Amino acid sequence: MSAIGTVLLKPGKERSLARRHPWVYAGAVNSVTGAPGNGALVAVRASDGRFLAWAAYSPVSAIRARCWSFDESDQINADWFAAKLDVAVARRRQLQEITSAVRLVYGEADSLPGLVVDRYADFLVVQVHAAGVDAQRELLLDALCSATACQNVFDRSDAALRTREGLGERGGVLRGAAPPEQVQIREHGLEYRVDVRRGHKTGFYLDQRDNRRLTGELVATFVRRHGRAPRVLNCFCYTGGFSIAAACAGAGSVISVDSSADALALARTNAALNGLGPQTAAPDERGLAGAPGRAQLQWCCADVFEQLRALRDQGECFDLIVLDPPKFATNQHQVDRAARAYKDINLGALRLLEHGGALLSFSCSSAVTVELFQKIVAGAVIDAGIGCYLRARLAAGADHPTLMTHPEGEYLKGLLLERI
Ligand code: SAH
Repeated sequence: MSAIGTVLLKPGKERSLARRHPWVYAGAVNSVTGAPGNGALVAVRASDGRFLAWAAYSPVSAIRARCWSFDESDQINADWFAAKLDVAVARRRQLQEITSAVRLVYGEADSLPGLVVDRYADFLVVQVHAAGVDAQRELLLDALCSATACQNVFDRSDAALRTREGLGERGGVLRGAAPPEQVQIREHGLEYRVDVRRGHKTGFYLDQRDNRRLTGELVATFVRRHGRAPRVLNCFCYTGGFSIAAACAGAGSVISVDSSADALALARTNAALNGLGPQTAAPDERGLAGAPGRAQLQWCCADVFEQLRALRDQGECFDLIVLDPPKFATNQHQVDRAARAYKDINLGALRLLEHGGALLSFSCSSAVTVELFQKIVAGAVIDAGIGCYLRARLAAGADHPTLMTHPEGEYLKGLLLERI
């Protein structure tokens, strides 16, 4: 496909593209020639006419163009798109050994800005959030089916995001069979049912795969080290990912809190699927449940902010606490308010943490930087009046890579703290 337009930048505005950042903001554009339509291929040029990038034009978006390639010799055509998808799929091939649910395409990180493709067993779930990938949709779907040998594609694009890009509402079956109410996946030997039609994101928090695994490892290590099964609290548990990982690794008890009754219902189903009874027998008096499947599970439909206070009033304490809240800040303006909310829940959790216990604390707000998040959590440690080691910094899994030139792509950050 040949470029049908040119986006000429204002003087000095070529700098971020020269550093291979893939976005052209509206304010950087001097003029547009060739009357390109929504999603059309354009050449982006510096004010002196120098070629900078091939991009998709987005006339109504604040991000006026998203770059496909910085290489002038690239031909942006069906073969180019198919090659990008092949590479993206191949990059995740090894993950297939440990899971049947993988993010196959992660937008900018895979040179396909605005496209997300998640695979859940035999179903591909896509989000098309930018004009460029929307314009190439049919071609991309063909290439995707052939790269994955998977013929079922379901659209879970976010309507609000599409509107912001000047795109109509979409959703539903794009190719092949409609997904069932719940698609069953297997991750690190554990089974989960995923509601790809109505669940959050595309149905499951794929980005937390490694951290679910880590939670299981922390539980197992705790049992070995202390000779008893840890008490676990999972806040914002959604469909039970961290809870099940902890229970199956030998937790004595797991209290899981979420405000969504639907999410909790699926969490219970997931627990049963992994041989964890709805209210399995309580561990013996010393808390020596130890064996997977013996954990006492409690699913609690409540507001985490309130529940943390209630647990403190009840004199509860835990050996492992997971805090994985929703995005508290969706933009820069909400950062201060989000910081207060993060501080509140972290303080609440730290006050419930036993000596030697671990807190896994996450933020998925990209507007909250790693540095700021660490500062907020450090503030909570100080206010709690306790000592903690920072044992690890955590991030999304390998199928959500961050481009060094596009730090905006990195949203999930976590801290593993150990109470001294
Ligand atoms: N940890 C989960 C993902 C968490 S998503 C996983 O790994 O799968 C955030 C969850 O927080 C959602 O399930 C949402 O229902 C819940 N939530 C949002 N605000 C809440 C609140 N104030 N109290 C309790 N749960 C809340």
